[in-house]
Amino acid sequence: MKEKEVIQRFFKELTKEDGGLAAYGEKEVMRYLQMGAVDTLIITDNINMSRITIRCNNCEFTEEMNIKNDELLKFEENLKTKACPECGGMLYIDNKEDIIEYFARLCEESGTELKIVSTDTEEGSQIYKAFRGIAAILRYRLD
Ligand SMILES: [Zn+2]
Repeated sequence: MKEKEVIQRFFKELTKEDGGLAAYGEKEVMRYLQMGAVDTLIITDNINMSRITIRCNNCEFTEEMNIKNDELLKFEENLKTKACPECGGMLYIDNKEDIIEYFARLCEESGTELKIVSTDTEEGSQIYKAFRGIAAILRYRLD
């Protein structure tokens, strides 16, 4: 499907009474992605985020999260003042990946179609403004 058609389908789902098969926003979409419940993932090309892995220098604790690129430095500074929740050890960023690469990998694993849309188009711009650049058409929906 073309960019425009995918976005139109998303909005069509969204306007259904119960929200149809549309999901949006980072948290909700991530949850459905991790369950393999996303049919098509729509991302705008300007989201500028990274997927980071935090590790403890003392135990096996690890945590992954998405973070805006322009907040990365501040986050790294803050991390120095925090202790590992498991053992009190020091935390550090072990791995950093562009979020679009991360999504591409996740989509491949779950057979999800990934559409990266430009915000130069009206549809793409709508996705960015209304949903911060992350939206999805689901295979099924959870209550
Ligand atoms: Zn630890």
